[in-house]
Amino acid sequence: LGGSIARALARMSNATVVDEKVLADCLNEICRALLQADVRFDTVRDVKANINRIVNLDALAAGTNKRRIIQQAVVDELRRMLDPGKPSFTPSKGKPNVVMFVGLQGSGKTTTCTKYADYHRRKGFNPALVCADTFRAGAFDQLKQNATKAKIPFYGSYTESDPVKIAVEGVDMFMKEKYDLIIVDTSGRHKQEAALFEEMRQVSEATKPDLVIFVMDGSIGQAAFDQAQAFKQSASVGAVIVTKMDGHAKGGGALSAVAATKSPVIFIGTGEHIPDFEVFEVNPFVSRLLGMGDLSGLVNKIQEFMPDNQQMQIMDKLGEGTFTLRLLYEMFQNLQRIGPLGQLVSMIPGFSGQFIEKGNEKEGQAKIKRYMTMMDSMTDAELDGTDPKLMNQSRINRIARGSGRRVEEVVHMLDEYKRIAKVWKKLPVLNNNRRSDMNRD
Ligand code: GDP
Ligand code: MG
Repeated sequence: LGGSIARALARMSNATVVDEKVLADCLNEICRALLQADVRFDTVRDVKANINRIVNLDALAAGTNKRRIIQQAVVDELRRMLDPGKPSFTPSKGKPNVVMFVGLQGSGKTTTCTKYADYHRRKGFNPALVCADTFRAGAFDQLKQNATKAKIPFYGSYTESDPVKIAVEGVDMFMKEKYDLIIVDTSGRHKQEAALFEEMRQVSEATKPDLVIFVMDGSIGQAAFDQAQAFKQSASVGAVIVTKMDGHAKGGGALSAVAATKSPVIFIGTGEHIPDFEVFEVNPFVSRLLGMGDLSGLVNKIQEFMPDNQQMQIMDKLGEGTFTLRLLYEMFQNLQRIGPLGQLVSMIPGFSGQFIEKGNEKEGQAKIKRYMTMMDSMTDAELDGTDPKLMNQSRINRIARGSGRRVEEVVHMLDEYKRIAKVWKKLPVLNNNRRSDMNRD
C-alpha cells in the first residue's frame, strides 16, 4: 500500500502542472493501492469520491496549490477512516473494570493482555488476568508465565474445560479482592467457526465486560473486515488493538477493522515483549501507511536524546530540503546513542527494510560504524556539499585510503546516501507537517 501511494504522490509532486489528468491518475493509483491492501471496495469508493469533492471545491479557491491539497486530502481521508467518531471506553479508577480480549488464535491476545495490564498498572490501576482459553493446550501456562514475569495476579485452571465457568469464577474472585482492572483472555481457534463465536457470546454475556477488545495481527489483509465483523456480532467489540507492527506489515487491515467494528484502534503491539506496546496515534500510523516513515516518532526519539540546539539544527536542515552527508552522519550518531536499532530504524524514511535487514541489527550497527569511519575521512566541503559532482574519483580514492576501506565501499556508501536523501526530498506530506509535529508538545 504505502509504496505505491507514496509513489503516486511523488509523481504528482514531480509533475510541473497538475491538471485534471494528473489528478485522476493519482487518485486511480491511490485507489488501486488501497484495494491491493485489501481495503474494502466500498471504502475505497468513498475515499475516491471524498477526495474528488474536496479537491474540486478547494482547488477553485484562488492560488491554491492542488498538489498540496490532494496530499492533504489523502492523509485526511485515511485519518477519517481510522476515526469511528466516538472514543472507546477507557477504564477509570475507583470501580471495577472488566475488559475482554477476542481475536483469532495467533493474533496476539495472550501477549497483549499482559502488555495492557502492565500499561495500566503503570497508570495506577490494580490489574488481574483471567485465562478463559480452555481450548488450546498450554494456554494457561502461557498466560501464567507472562503474568508471573509482569508480576500480575492471574486465575485459570488446568482441568476445567468450560471457559464460561472459569471466566465467571475469575472475574468474581478478583472483584471480591478489589482489583479494578480485570482482563479476560479468551481462546481463538485457527478458523472463524461457529463454536468460537458462540463461546465468545457466552463468555461476554456471563462476564458483562465494560470493554471488548478485538486483537488483530497487523499483517492480515483481506480477512480483516469479516473477522472483525464476526467478532463484533458475538461480543460487542468496542476497541481494536493491532499487533506485530514491528514487522513489515503496514497494518492496512486496521482500516477495515475500524469500519467493521465502528471502534477505534487504541494500542499497537510492536514486539514480543511486555514494553513493546504503544498508544495508537493516527499521524505516525498514516505516515507509515503512506510509506513515509514515522517522522513524529523519530522527532520524539531525537528529542529524548539530543540537546535542544542540535535538534533544531537537524530539523531546520530537513526543513530546507537539503539532505547532506553531514546530516546523515548526525543521524547515525543519534542512532548509536539511542540504542536498539530495530524499531527506530523502521520509522526513518529511507532506512526501513533496505538499510538494515530485520533481525540483522548487529550487521546494521557495524555498517553504520563503517559508514561513519568513511565520513570521518571527508572534508567539511564534502560533508556539507550538495553538488554530486564534488565526489569525483580522486576524492573517493582519498576517502577510501584515509578510512582504510575499499573504494567500492565508499561508492556504495555514497549510493546509499543518495538513495536515502532522495526519499527524504520526496516527503511532501511530512514537509508540510513537520513544523506542527515539532511543536506538538
Ligand atoms: P493468541 O493466540 O491470540 O493468544 O496470541 P499470542 O499472544 O499467543 O501470540 C502469538 C505469537 O505472536 C506469539 O509468538 C507472540 O510472541 C507473538 N506476538 C504477539 N504480539 C506481537 C507483536 O506485537 N510483535 C511480534 N513480533 N510478535 C508478537
Ligand atoms: Mg492465547
